[in-house]
Amino acid sequence: MPKSSAFEPRGRVKTKGSCVQNSKLADTVLGQLKARLPPILNFERTTPLLLLALFGLSGCATLPYGYGSAQRYRTSPELEARTSQQIERGQPHKVLDSVGWVWSIPDKIILWDRRIGNHHIGTQTESAIADYLAKNELTSVKVRLNQYHPGDDWRRLGANDSVGAGWRYTLGTLSVLGETIFPGRVFGGDHFNPFTNTVHVYSDVPAVAVHEAGHSKDFAQREWKGTYAAAYLIPGVPLYHEAKATNDALGYLLTESDERTQRDAYEILYPAYGTYVGGAFGGVFGGYGTYFASVLGGHAFGRIKSEQIANGTLPESQHVQSRSVSDIKTTSSTVEVDGQTIERIGVEFP
Ligand SMILES: [Zn+2]
Repeated sequence: MPKSSAFEPRGRVKTKGSCVQNSKLADTVLGQLKARLPPILNFERTTPLLLLALFGLSGCATLPYGYGSAQRYRTSPELEARTSQQIERGQPHKVLDSVGWVWSIPDKIILWDRRIGNHHIGTQTESAIADYLAKNELTSVKVRLNQYHPGDDWRRLGANDSVGAGWRYTLGTLSVLGETIFPGRVFGGDHFNPFTNTVHVYSDVPAVAVHEAGHSKDFAQREWKGTYAAAYLIPGVPLYHEAKATNDALGYLLTESDERTQRDAYEILYPAYGTYVGGAFGGVFGGYGTYFASVLGGHAFGRIKSEQIANGTLPESQHVQSRSVSDIKTTSSTVEVDGQTIERIGVEFP
């Protein structure tokens, strides 16, 4: 979309007060968990990890929110030319979508939300990610809403020369091969692929879609994208990538979205971060106890923040300038590409 002065990057000011308050909150949550969880969760050993998880996020969403600017990104003009249509939607398929729904039951339980992996993306999620990409000037990012279109993913991999060829033709090839053989339409797993610069969405949760788009903004600013993507494979490192995407999503949603979406963001993105903490340290400290303690810590902390939004005591929300529901509208049209029907999503800004 054309550059507009309304979307110029704004200043970054850390809300220090809220961080201090959050560390107190973290103490309270930890104390409560310690008292209530069964001893089998081995809380003494996992406490430092939870602290790390909570401080990693700790609600220090950088506010006022710093909008991204196309001038600051290192993206591929060739890929941009391939991305005239940013958002596409897969055709509904009763059997595939039902199998996919069942496959993601564990994720639904872990994040305690039935919209995870439901393979039915509503207009609110669609508008949220469209709005995020437009306001952050992320014009070469592709979004596939419950869509399987590996042919185009392979072409995007070839075109994306903002990632070094060495990484693209090794790790990048493996990643697209994985997406081709294990289609997200069945196996779910909302994710961003930095090699094709594509967001794949299977859950109907605006905050989750914005989090994935948050990864695309993080990558857009990096010079060594392939190396940054490869670093994600090192145990523990994903905590950094995930905190970046989650904090950006939180900052954005606290500025731009309605109250329900803001509450969702805390209630889902915090335990989701907990899964990464658990994954990173579960192996080191032994098993499921650490994993579940991390996820439960995320749920507890997220729900407290969500309650604070509801009763108007969230420190960060003092900085919220607009919390009206986005009134952008989306339209859809279908075309035949590569022998398959593709639903293209158009975005109309007021
Ligand atoms: Zn993520």
